[in-house]
Amino acid sequence: MDNEKVKVLIIGSGPAGYTAAVYAARAGLKPVLYQGGQPGGQLTLTNDVENYPGYPEGINGPQMMVDFQKQAERFGTDIRYGMVTSVDFSGWPHKVTIDEKTTVEAEAVIISTGASAKWLGLESEQRLNGMGVSACAVCDGFFYRGQDVAVVGGGDTAAEEATYLSKLAKKVYMLVRRDELRASKIMQQRVLKAPNIEVLWNTEAVEVLGKDQVEGLKVVNNKTNEERDLEIQGFFVAIGHKPNTDIFKGLLDMDEVGYIKTIPGTSKTKIPGVFATGDAQDKVYRQAVTAAGSGCMGALDAERFLAEKEMEVEAATA
Ligand code: NDP
Repeated sequence: MDNEKVKVLIIGSGPAGYTAAVYAARAGLKPVLYQGGQPGGQLTLTNDVENYPGYPEGINGPQMMVDFQKQAERFGTDIRYGMVTSVDFSGWPHKVTIDEKTTVEAEAVIISTGASAKWLGLESEQRLNGMGVSACAVCDGFFYRGQDVAVVGGGDTAAEEATYLSKLAKKVYMLVRRDELRASKIMQQRVLKAPNIEVLWNTEAVEVLGKDQVEGLKVVNNKTNEERDLEIQGFFVAIGHKPNTDIFKGLLDMDEVGYIKTIPGTSKTKIPGVFATGDAQDKVYRQAVTAAGSGCMGALDAERFLAEKEMEVEAATA
Protein backbone atom coordinates (compact mmCIF):
# COMPACT_ATOMS: atom_id res chain seq x y z
CA MET A 1 0.00 0.00 0.00
CA ASP A 2 1.34 3.45 -0.98
CA ASN A 3 1.89 5.92 1.82
CA GLU A 4 2.07 9.68 1.85
CA LYS A 5 2.23 12.47 4.44
CA VAL A 6 0.33 15.74 4.09
CA LYS A 7 -0.50 18.68 6.33
CA VAL A 8 -4.14 19.21 5.36
CA LEU A 9 -6.36 16.68 3.64
CA ILE A 10 -9.72 17.82 2.35
CA ILE A 11 -12.34 15.19 1.52
CA GLY A 12 -14.95 16.38 -0.96
CA SER A 13 -15.27 18.89 -3.78
CA GLY A 14 -18.44 20.90 -3.26
CA PRO A 15 -18.51 24.55 -2.15
CA ALA A 16 -17.30 23.56 1.36
CA GLY A 17 -14.32 21.52 0.16
CA TYR A 18 -13.14 24.01 -2.44
CA THR A 19 -13.53 26.97 -0.10
CA ALA A 20 -11.55 25.14 2.58
CA ALA A 21 -8.94 24.51 -0.13
CA VAL A 22 -8.72 28.19 -1.14
CA TYR A 23 -8.18 29.25 2.47
CA ALA A 24 -5.78 26.44 3.38
CA ALA A 25 -3.75 26.94 0.19
CA ARG A 26 -3.50 30.70 0.73
CA ALA A 27 -2.31 29.98 4.27
CA GLY A 28 0.56 27.97 2.80
CA LEU A 29 -0.71 24.61 4.07
CA LYS A 30 -0.42 22.87 0.68
CA PRO A 31 -3.80 21.10 0.93
CA VAL A 32 -4.52 17.88 -0.90
CA LEU A 33 -8.16 17.49 -1.92
CA TYR A 34 -9.84 14.26 -2.97
CA GLN A 35 -12.91 14.95 -5.09
CA GLY A 36 -15.01 11.89 -4.26
CA GLY A 37 -17.60 10.19 -6.44
CA GLN A 38 -19.21 13.32 -7.76
CA PRO A 39 -16.59 15.98 -8.50
CA GLY A 40 -18.13 19.40 -7.87
CA GLY A 41 -20.83 17.93 -5.64
CA GLN A 42 -24.56 18.53 -5.78
CA LEU A 43 -24.34 21.84 -7.63
CA THR A 44 -23.20 19.95 -10.70
CA LEU A 45 -26.71 18.47 -10.76
CA THR A 46 -28.43 21.80 -10.75
CA ASN A 47 -29.11 24.38 -13.39
CA ASP A 48 -29.21 28.06 -12.52
CA VAL A 49 -28.09 29.15 -9.08
CA GLU A 50 -29.81 32.44 -8.37
CA ASN A 51 -29.12 32.82 -4.68
CA TYR A 52 -25.32 32.80 -4.49
CA PRO A 53 -24.29 36.37 -3.68
CA GLY A 54 -22.12 38.10 -6.24
CA TYR A 55 -23.91 36.80 -9.32
CA PRO A 56 -26.73 39.27 -10.02
CA GLU A 57 -27.80 37.36 -13.12
CA GLY A 58 -27.39 33.92 -11.52
CA ILE A 59 -24.85 31.31 -12.58
CA ASN A 60 -24.96 27.83 -14.02
CA GLY A 61 -24.25 25.28 -11.23
CA PRO A 62 -21.63 23.13 -13.01
CA GLN A 63 -19.84 26.29 -14.25
CA MET A 64 -19.79 27.65 -10.72
CA MET A 65 -18.07 24.51 -9.49
CA VAL A 66 -15.48 24.71 -12.29
CA ASP A 67 -14.76 28.25 -11.09
CA PHE A 68 -14.49 27.08 -7.45
CA GLN A 69 -12.02 24.41 -8.54
CA LYS A 70 -9.93 26.86 -10.59
CA GLN A 71 -9.73 29.23 -7.64
CA ALA A 72 -8.54 26.42 -5.35
CA GLU A 73 -5.97 25.33 -7.96
CA ARG A 74 -4.72 28.86 -8.49
CA PHE A 75 -3.30 28.90 -4.96
CA GLY A 76 -1.74 25.47 -5.28
CA THR A 77 -4.31 22.96 -4.02
CA ASP A 78 -3.41 19.46 -5.15
CA ILE A 79 -6.76 18.23 -6.49
CA ARG A 80 -7.11 14.52 -7.16
CA TYR A 81 -9.70 12.00 -8.27
CA GLY A 82 -10.41 9.35 -5.67
CA MET A 83 -12.78 8.14 -3.00
CA VAL A 84 -11.96 7.82 0.66
CA THR A 85 -12.66 4.20 1.52
CA SER A 86 -11.67 4.12 5.20
CA VAL A 87 -10.29 6.32 7.95
CA ASP A 88 -8.35 5.75 11.13
CA PHE A 89 -8.63 8.57 13.66
CA SER A 90 -7.25 6.55 16.58
CA GLY A 91 -3.82 8.20 16.58
CA TRP A 92 -2.18 11.29 15.14
CA PRO A 93 -1.47 12.06 12.33
CA HIS A 94 -4.80 10.73 11.05
CA LYS A 95 -4.80 7.98 8.47
CA VAL A 96 -7.10 8.13 5.48
CA THR A 97 -7.21 5.42 2.82
CA ILE A 98 -8.05 6.32 -0.77
CA ASP A 99 -9.57 3.78 -3.18
CA GLU A 100 -8.49 1.00 -0.81
CA LYS A 101 -4.87 1.38 -1.89
CA THR A 102 -3.23 4.67 -0.88
CA THR A 103 -2.91 5.71 2.74
CA VAL A 104 -2.53 9.40 3.41
CA GLU A 105 -1.29 10.53 6.80
CA ALA A 106 -2.77 13.94 7.48
CA GLU A 107 -2.11 16.33 10.33
CA ALA A 108 -5.54 17.87 9.78
CA VAL A 109 -8.55 16.39 7.98
CA ILE A 110 -11.38 18.55 6.70
CA ILE A 111 -14.51 16.56 5.93
CA SER A 112 -16.62 18.12 3.18
CA THR A 113 -18.34 15.03 1.85
CA GLY A 114 -21.75 16.67 1.38
CA ALA A 115 -25.02 14.86 1.01
CA SER A 116 -26.83 12.78 -1.63
CA ALA A 117 -30.41 12.45 -2.77
CA LYS A 118 -32.67 10.11 -0.80
CA TRP A 119 -34.80 7.42 -2.43
CA LEU A 120 -38.22 6.12 -1.45
CA GLY A 121 -36.95 2.55 -1.08
CA LEU A 122 -39.35 0.86 -3.51
CA GLU A 123 -38.02 -2.19 -5.32
CA SER A 124 -39.43 -0.87 -8.62
CA GLU A 125 -37.74 2.50 -8.06
CA GLN A 126 -34.37 0.80 -7.76
CA ARG A 127 -34.98 -1.56 -10.70
CA LEU A 128 -35.93 1.28 -13.05
CA ASN A 129 -33.30 3.73 -11.84
CA GLY A 130 -31.79 5.33 -14.93
CA MET A 131 -34.60 3.90 -17.03
CA GLY A 132 -37.13 6.58 -16.28
CA VAL A 133 -36.47 6.95 -12.56
CA SER A 134 -34.21 9.87 -11.63
CA ALA A 135 -33.31 12.16 -8.74
CA CYS A 136 -32.22 15.01 -10.98
CA ALA A 137 -34.61 16.84 -13.28
CA VAL A 138 -31.90 19.10 -14.61
CA CYS A 139 -29.79 16.09 -15.62
CA ASP A 140 -32.56 13.97 -17.12
CA GLY A 141 -35.55 16.25 -17.80
CA PHE A 142 -34.46 16.72 -21.39
CA PHE A 143 -35.43 13.11 -22.17
CA TYR A 144 -39.08 13.76 -21.30
CA ARG A 145 -39.86 16.63 -23.61
CA GLY A 146 -43.55 16.51 -24.52
CA GLN A 147 -44.17 13.53 -22.21
CA ASP A 148 -45.87 13.10 -18.84
CA VAL A 149 -43.83 12.84 -15.65
CA ALA A 150 -44.30 12.74 -11.88
CA VAL A 151 -42.26 14.31 -9.10
CA VAL A 152 -42.48 13.12 -5.50
CA GLY A 153 -41.79 15.48 -2.61
CA GLY A 154 -43.09 18.73 -1.19
CA GLY A 155 -39.93 20.70 -0.38
CA ASP A 156 -37.97 23.28 -2.35
CA THR A 157 -36.16 20.60 -4.33
CA ALA A 158 -39.41 19.00 -5.48
CA ALA A 159 -40.93 22.39 -6.28
CA GLU A 160 -37.84 23.36 -8.25
CA GLU A 161 -37.79 20.07 -10.13
CA ALA A 162 -41.52 20.24 -10.92
CA THR A 163 -41.19 23.82 -12.18
CA TYR A 164 -38.17 22.92 -14.29
CA LEU A 165 -39.91 19.88 -15.75
CA SER A 166 -43.09 21.85 -16.46
CA LYS A 167 -41.15 23.74 -19.11
CA LEU A 168 -40.19 20.54 -20.91
CA ALA A 169 -42.87 17.95 -20.18
CA LYS A 170 -46.50 18.02 -21.29
CA LYS A 171 -47.81 17.34 -17.82
CA VAL A 172 -46.21 17.12 -14.38
CA TYR A 173 -47.88 15.38 -11.44
CA MET A 174 -46.48 16.43 -8.10
CA LEU A 175 -47.08 13.88 -5.34
CA VAL A 176 -47.26 15.47 -1.90
CA ARG A 177 -47.78 13.17 1.07
CA ARG A 178 -49.47 15.81 3.24
CA ASP A 179 -52.02 18.50 2.38
CA GLU A 180 -49.42 21.23 2.28
CA LEU A 181 -46.04 21.93 0.77
CA ARG A 182 -42.90 22.38 2.82
CA ALA A 183 -41.36 24.50 0.04
CA SER A 184 -40.80 28.25 0.46
CA LYS A 185 -43.65 30.59 -0.52
CA ILE A 186 -42.03 31.77 -3.76
CA MET A 187 -41.43 28.19 -4.93
CA GLN A 188 -44.98 27.21 -3.98
CA GLN A 189 -46.33 30.06 -6.07
CA ARG A 190 -44.33 28.93 -9.08
CA VAL A 191 -45.71 25.41 -8.76
CA LEU A 192 -49.31 26.44 -8.22
CA LYS A 193 -49.17 28.95 -11.08
CA ALA A 194 -47.83 26.50 -13.68
CA PRO A 195 -50.76 25.41 -15.84
CA ASN A 196 -49.39 21.92 -16.48
CA ILE A 197 -48.44 20.96 -12.90
CA GLU A 198 -51.13 19.03 -11.05
CA VAL A 199 -50.46 18.67 -7.33
CA LEU A 200 -51.84 15.41 -5.94
CA TRP A 201 -52.27 16.09 -2.21
CA ASN A 202 -52.08 13.32 0.41
CA THR A 203 -50.68 11.07 -2.25
CA GLU A 204 -47.85 8.54 -2.10
CA ALA A 205 -46.14 6.38 -4.68
CA VAL A 206 -46.83 2.65 -4.32
CA GLU A 207 -45.04 1.20 -7.33
CA VAL A 208 -43.27 2.38 -10.44
CA LEU A 209 -44.79 0.47 -13.34
CA GLY A 210 -42.90 -0.85 -16.36
CA LYS A 211 -40.52 -3.67 -17.22
CA ASP A 212 -37.46 -2.04 -18.79
CA GLN A 213 -38.73 1.52 -18.87
CA VAL A 214 -41.09 3.57 -16.73
CA GLU A 215 -44.61 3.31 -18.12
CA GLY A 216 -46.66 4.47 -15.16
CA LEU A 217 -46.95 4.96 -11.45
CA LYS A 218 -49.34 3.39 -8.97
CA VAL A 219 -50.27 5.96 -6.33
CA VAL A 220 -52.49 5.90 -3.27
CA ASN A 221 -54.39 8.64 -1.51
CA ASN A 222 -53.38 8.13 2.12
CA LYS A 223 -56.65 9.67 3.39
CA THR A 224 -59.11 7.63 1.30
CA ASN A 225 -56.84 4.62 0.47
CA GLU A 226 -57.98 5.03 -3.12
CA GLU A 227 -55.40 3.77 -5.62
CA ARG A 228 -54.93 4.88 -9.20
CA ASP A 229 -52.41 4.45 -12.01
CA LEU A 230 -50.83 7.51 -13.61
CA GLU A 231 -49.56 7.16 -17.13
CA ILE A 232 -46.08 8.66 -16.99
CA GLN A 233 -42.73 8.11 -18.66
CA GLY A 234 -40.48 9.77 -16.10
CA PHE A 235 -40.45 9.57 -12.29
CA PHE A 236 -38.41 12.08 -10.31
CA VAL A 237 -37.68 11.55 -6.63
CA ALA A 238 -37.05 14.78 -4.69
CA ILE A 239 -37.58 13.91 -1.03
CA GLY A 240 -34.47 15.35 0.55
CA HIS A 241 -30.92 14.30 1.18
CA LYS A 242 -28.75 12.09 3.33
CA PRO A 243 -25.28 13.16 4.46
CA ASN A 244 -22.38 11.16 2.98
CA THR A 245 -20.85 10.24 6.30
CA ASP A 246 -21.11 6.44 6.49
CA ILE A 247 -17.32 5.97 6.55
CA PHE A 248 -17.12 8.04 9.75
CA LYS A 249 -19.80 6.08 11.63
CA GLY A 250 -18.68 5.05 15.08
CA LEU A 251 -15.70 7.43 14.95
CA LEU A 252 -17.40 10.81 15.10
CA ASP A 253 -20.56 11.91 16.91
CA MET A 254 -23.56 12.09 14.58
CA ASP A 255 -27.30 12.61 14.83
CA GLU A 256 -29.70 9.81 13.96
CA VAL A 257 -29.63 10.70 10.23
CA GLY A 258 -25.84 10.84 10.05
CA TYR A 259 -25.10 14.57 10.21
CA ILE A 260 -21.74 14.99 11.96
CA LYS A 261 -21.92 16.90 15.24
CA THR A 262 -19.50 19.78 15.61
CA ILE A 263 -18.73 21.99 18.58
CA PRO A 264 -21.24 24.86 18.16
CA GLY A 265 -19.80 27.86 16.39
CA THR A 266 -16.83 25.87 15.06
CA SER A 267 -16.08 23.11 12.57
CA LYS A 268 -14.37 20.99 15.25
CA THR A 269 -15.48 17.42 15.77
CA LYS A 270 -14.78 15.53 18.96
CA ILE A 271 -11.45 14.37 17.48
CA PRO A 272 -8.68 16.99 17.52
CA GLY A 273 -7.53 17.72 13.98
CA VAL A 274 -10.71 16.47 12.32
CA PHE A 275 -13.09 19.15 11.10
CA ALA A 276 -16.52 18.78 9.50
CA THR A 277 -17.95 21.32 7.07
CA GLY A 278 -20.81 21.85 4.64
CA ASP A 279 -23.80 19.54 4.22
CA ALA A 280 -22.04 16.65 5.99
CA GLN A 281 -22.74 18.53 9.24
CA ASP A 282 -25.53 20.97 8.38
CA LYS A 283 -29.08 19.74 8.32
CA VAL A 284 -30.61 23.16 8.75
CA TYR A 285 -29.34 25.49 6.04
CA ARG A 286 -27.77 23.27 3.35
CA GLN A 287 -27.08 26.11 0.95
CA ALA A 288 -24.09 26.62 -1.33
CA VAL A 289 -23.24 29.85 0.41
CA THR A 290 -23.49 28.41 3.93
CA ALA A 291 -21.44 25.39 2.84
CA ALA A 292 -18.76 27.73 1.46
CA GLY A 293 -18.75 29.70 4.72
CA SER A 294 -18.46 26.50 6.67
CA GLY A 295 -15.53 25.35 4.48
CA CYS A 296 -13.78 28.60 5.33
CA MET A 297 -14.31 27.86 9.04
CA GLY A 298 -12.84 24.38 8.54
CA ALA A 299 -9.66 25.78 7.00
CA LEU A 300 -9.25 28.47 9.68
CA ASP A 301 -9.83 25.95 12.47
CA ALA A 302 -7.32 23.56 10.84
CA GLU A 303 -4.77 26.34 10.50
CA ARG A 304 -5.10 27.23 14.20
CA PHE A 305 -4.92 23.58 15.20
CA LEU A 306 -1.69 23.11 13.22
CA ALA A 307 -0.15 26.27 14.67
CA GLU A 308 -0.92 25.04 18.20
CA LYS A 309 0.54 21.60 17.41
CA GLU A 310 3.68 23.24 16.10
CA MET A 311 4.02 25.26 19.30
CA GLU A 312 3.58 22.07 21.36
CA VAL A 313 6.36 20.37 19.38
CA GLU A 314 8.65 23.42 19.75
CA ALA A 315 8.02 23.57 23.51
CA ALA A 316 8.76 19.85 23.86
CA THR A 317 12.06 20.12 21.99
CA ALA A 318 13.19 23.43 23.57
P1 NDP B 1 -36.77 18.87 2.48
O1 NDP B 1 -36.33 18.00 3.58
O2 NDP B 1 -36.97 20.32 2.73
O3 NDP B 1 -38.15 18.33 1.89
C1 NDP B 1 -38.35 16.98 1.61
C2 NDP B 1 -39.76 16.81 1.10
O4 NDP B 1 -39.95 15.45 0.72
C3 NDP B 1 -40.82 17.14 2.14
O5 NDP B 1 -41.92 17.74 1.54
C4 NDP B 1 -41.18 15.75 2.69
O6 NDP B 1 -42.50 15.66 3.12
C5 NDP B 1 -41.02 14.90 1.45
N1 NDP B 1 -40.70 13.51 1.78
C6 NDP B 1 -39.70 13.04 2.55
N2 NDP B 1 -39.70 11.69 2.60
C7 NDP B 1 -40.74 11.30 1.84
C8 NDP B 1 -41.26 10.05 1.49
N3 NDP B 1 -40.72 8.91 1.92
N4 NDP B 1 -42.35 10.02 0.69
C9 NDP B 1 -42.90 11.15 0.24
N5 NDP B 1 -42.46 12.38 0.50
C10 NDP B 1 -41.38 12.46 1.30
O7 NDP B 1 -35.70 18.61 1.31
P2 NDP B 1 -35.37 19.47 0.01
O8 NDP B 1 -34.37 18.65 -0.70
O9 NDP B 1 -36.58 19.86 -0.71
O10 NDP B 1 -34.68 20.79 0.55
C11 NDP B 1 -33.53 20.70 1.39
C12 NDP B 1 -33.02 22.10 1.74
O11 NDP B 1 -32.47 22.74 0.60
C13 NDP B 1 -34.12 23.01 2.26
O12 NDP B 1 -33.58 23.82 3.26
C14 NDP B 1 -34.48 23.84 1.05
O13 NDP B 1 -35.01 25.09 1.38
C15 NDP B 1 -33.14 23.97 0.34
N6 NDP B 1 -33.30 24.14 -1.11
C16 NDP B 1 -33.29 25.41 -1.62
C17 NDP B 1 -33.46 25.63 -2.97
C18 NDP B 1 -33.41 27.03 -3.47
O14 NDP B 1 -33.41 27.94 -2.66
N7 NDP B 1 -33.34 27.26 -4.76
C19 NDP B 1 -33.65 24.53 -3.92
C20 NDP B 1 -33.68 23.24 -3.28
C21 NDP B 1 -33.51 23.07 -1.94
P3 NDP B 1 -42.98 16.38 4.49
O15 NDP B 1 -43.08 17.83 4.15
O16 NDP B 1 -44.29 15.72 4.73
O17 NDP B 1 -41.94 16.06 5.51
